Amino acid sequence: MTKDKMGVLGENLIGYENSSEGELKFKTFNPLLNEENPWIFCQASSKEVERAAKKAREAFPTFSSLPGSRRAAFLEAIALEMETNRETILETYVAESGLPVGRAEGEFARTLGQINRFANIARTGQWAEPIIDITDNVDIRKTNMPIGPIVVFGASNFPLAFSTAGGDTVSAFAVGCPVLVKAHPMHSGTSSLVAQAIFRAARETEMPDGTFSHLLDWDNSVGEALVKHPEIQAVGFTGSLKGGLALNRFSQERENPIPVFAEMGSINPVVVLPKIIEEQGLHWATALAGSINLGAGQFCTNPGLLIGIEDSSFTTFIDQLADALSEQKPSCMLHPKIFETYRRSVDRMEQLGAIVLHRKQSDETTNFAVPRLVKVPGAMFTGNVELHQEVFGPFSMVVCCRDKEELNKLVANLEGQLTGTILANKEELETYADTIASLQSKVGRLIFNGVPTGVEVCSAMQHGGPYPATTDSRFTSVGDDAVKRWIRPVAFQNWPDPALPAPIQNDNPLNLLRKFNGDYTSQRL
Ligand code: NAP
Repeated sequence: MTKDKMGVLGENLIGYENSSEGELKFKTFNPLLNEENPWIFCQASSKEVERAAKKAREAFPTFSSLPGSRRAAFLEAIALEMETNRETILETYVAESGLPVGRAEGEFARTLGQINRFANIARTGQWAEPIIDITDNVDIRKTNMPIGPIVVFGASNFPLAFSTAGGDTVSAFAVGCPVLVKAHPMHSGTSSLVAQAIFRAARETEMPDGTFSHLLDWDNSVGEALVKHPEIQAVGFTGSLKGGLALNRFSQERENPIPVFAEMGSINPVVVLPKIIEEQGLHWATALAGSINLGAGQFCTNPGLLIGIEDSSFTTFIDQLADALSEQKPSCMLHPKIFETYRRSVDRMEQLGAIVLHRKQSDETTNFAVPRLVKVPGAMFTGNVELHQEVFGPFSMVVCCRDKEELNKLVANLEGQLTGTILANKEELETYADTIASLQSKVGRLIFNGVPTGVEVCSAMQHGGPYPATTDSRFTSVGDDAVKRWIRPVAFQNWPDPALPAPIQNDNPLNLLRKFNGDYTSQRL
């Protein structure tokens, strides 16, 4: 890739201004070649952070009051700009992540799909969810309004779909919030290319200066300054528990704390019930092996915990799973640091007493991880919370319970999770109803006879869960409801009709479905 193709790669975008005032320079890393990429990036200075935040504040009133169709056109222009630069973006993505081309292409398509989906959401405007109550005494009308400028942190494991033009950014644009993206340092090149696509789309569709800024950093300082900046009204983050908690703490240190929507990790328990394993053990061993190793296990929905009741079928199932995993090829992890953390975390599980079931560990070469599987007894798992920690990578822990009572105790002691899975036959749905209810109370998405990886982008998706999976289990970062993180309800009491926001005016000019005195209708008043 040439410098020309990369355009102004390396600089920050402060609204419509390219800027590289900071002194700290850095490079990204190619884990496949185990060497640095050639491009040089410039960390944003505190003055650049200040200008980006000020521009976002100035852009907010205009951007948020544009008709939804204008914001939809902006979003569609982003998708077109990305499509035009597809090859360069994909090439850079692979060079900065080590992920295979097929995965890059799949994530690219998903990202464009998300952008176009949120363009439709912007166009219909139904996110306003208008409610009107008119009684003899009072006229109260409530509608959702955009919260203000937000910060989005790019996620290391999704350089496109959870990064610069990912679900957080485009859901915020759909409802009228300016966005400041803090690029993930590991894929600053991919992020810069996508940022340039957003920049061009914003120009073409005449969005106000400051609707979007893109800031690069190598250490934590830019992220901290952004979360603490008084103009910022909310934060979107996907990453480690440590990182998410740090951002939450920064918010609490502000004079006016703001919501931090952090997705911070999950071990995604799979409860493997006896009868289904007796009937279909090999099928589920094969399916789970594929899910554990998918994307080198670097998914927030990776099945990191498999819980069952020890009997001969479960023992056979574990052997089949270990065999299926040993057939999987080593896969490249995102970065040497993530690879080293993976190895250290599995070693730590072994030090804590987990029994090793995986094979072919000797095949592991720099940055290329082999899937690993360990086993612990139920009582040991329940008694040591260190065993509950996420191992980011192609890893899973099998927990063998003595009986149903021990299984139920274990599930009751689990921390909050993004997903929980039940592998069961029909009869077990009844006999284990208490186990299922207990698991349901821990998770955002409950899966029946499936694997947790693969998060469909649709209206009904819930990608969030009780702490520590996320900071607020009421919200989702995937699917249409992702917009709910960036809006807040405002009620208008006894206001003259022309002075009301369009969603709650008598004529219903946006033709929205509204709740009027308790009934849903799209009629005018
Ligand atoms: P991370 O360390 O949490 O970093 C994510 C983003 O947050 C980066 O942009 C980082 O910026 C920023 N950040 C982190 N701590 C910060 C702090 N104290 N102050 C300001 N900004 C901060 O996650 P990662 O780099 O993606 O990967 C590290 C580990 O996170 C992985 O090994 C894995 O365990 C976990 N992870 C989990 C998931 C999941 O979905 N479960 C996804 C991704 C990662 P800087 O790099 O500039 O500091």
